[in-house]
Amino acid sequence: MLKQKNLILVGAPGAGKGTFSTYLQSLQPLAHISTGDMLREEIRKGSECGKEAARLMDAGQLVSDELVVAMIEIRLGKSDCDGGFILDGFPRTVRQAELLGGVLSRLGRSLDRVILFEAPEELLIRRLTARSSCLACGATFNALFLPPKKTGICDHCGGELSQRPDDSQETAKKRLLVYAKQTAPVIAYYVQSGKLLRITETDKKEIEAILLRELNA
Ligand code: AMP
Repeated sequence: MLKQKNLILVGAPGAGKGTFSTYLQSLQPLAHISTGDMLREEIRKGSECGKEAARLMDAGQLVSDELVVAMIEIRLGKSDCDGGFILDGFPRTVRQAELLGGVLSRLGRSLDRVILFEAPEELLIRRLTARSSCLACGATFNALFLPPKKTGICDHCGGELSQRPDDSQETAKKRLLVYAKQTAPVIAYYVQSGKLLRITETDKKEIEAILLRELNA
């Protein structure tokens, strides 16, 4: 039995946070918490915060720290997080990281590891612009390493695949700039805690081996 872990996955858009969250969940029943997915759900529901988030997300900007931290506090309070969780795409600013500290102590939870995925910028752009997801069930594909069996059609439900508006070449570049400016400082924040694991490999199998060791540690 692998150990229960509370993890943060950090990395630029396209670095593999979503892909490796799925891998980690295949090893251990960890709750996968993606603030990007939660915000897209708010947009689908047409809620007020979804409307505000859509404007910023389409422009490749971050939504407010207060909004995402409030969503995270509710989500981390749920019982499925008792067996361990993966935070994917949160925190994205030093302010969010600071506020997360308070949320975790209020909930009596703690962090085991912050895993940073690094990859060269041209690879990130190639990956982002190759991504697509199913309009019906939300399954994700990537023309580079996880192509659907039939172009434009979801393998799981036969739904139509489409590119996320913020994965266009122009917006992907903006998101990488936002990452360098607002999210990269989060790495220094966690280096100080001694919990950072930096992954610079780009080969999927090598990364999976590192993650497996981490869950065994
Ligand atoms: P993702 O799916 O993680 O790539 O996130 C897509 C978009 O959602 C980002 O470009 C931001 O606009 C927004 N977003 C997701 N997570 C956060 C966060 N922790 N803080 C602020 N904005 C976020």
